[in-house]
Amino acid sequence: KTHSYKLYKMSVERSFIAVKPDGVAKGLIGEILKRYEQKGFRVVALKQLVPTKELAEKHYEEHKERPFFGELVSFITSGPVVAFVLEGKGVVAAARLMIGVTNPLLSNPGTIRGDYAIEVSKNIIHGSDSVASAEREIALWFKTEELLQ
Ligand code: UDP
Repeated sequence: KTHSYKLYKMSVERSFIAVKPDGVAKGLIGEILKRYEQKGFRVVALKQLVPTKELAEKHYEEHKERPFFGELVSFITSGPVVAFVLEGKGVVAAARLMIGVTNPLLSNPGTIRGDYAIEVSKNIIHGSDSVASAEREIALWFKTEELLQ
């Protein structure tokens, strides 16, 4: 089948993941890292930081005209975030499947948002939505020397 053939051919990628302040406050750093590690993805960079307003605005710049932008930026800068980079075959799409959809109430049980969140504005985790977004976000959050080769 065409679909599964494409999955076999999928190449090694990197994705940018961030456990948002609500996920850190709920004690989910370990649980989230465990899921990705046990799946088989490699953590090639990892740090905890309180993002600056400038970093948050750049990260979410595609949403700057949306009504929720101000609240989104103030939420993501409200406390520590655990930012990391995963590497592996097809990791961009696979990490998003493991996250669920934007609305936690519509996310399947077994996904991170499906298991641990209710509110769209407090949905625990960010994951890059494409290889191009991942490249942009990794460059924004990490210096080259912070990434394993
Ligand atoms: N968001 C929100 N209200 C909305 C839509 C999105 O607060 O109506 C937040 C939500 O936390 C989401 C983030 O903005 O994770 C970025 O939105 P996006 O559509 O990129 O969702 P994601 O890729 O994170 O699922």
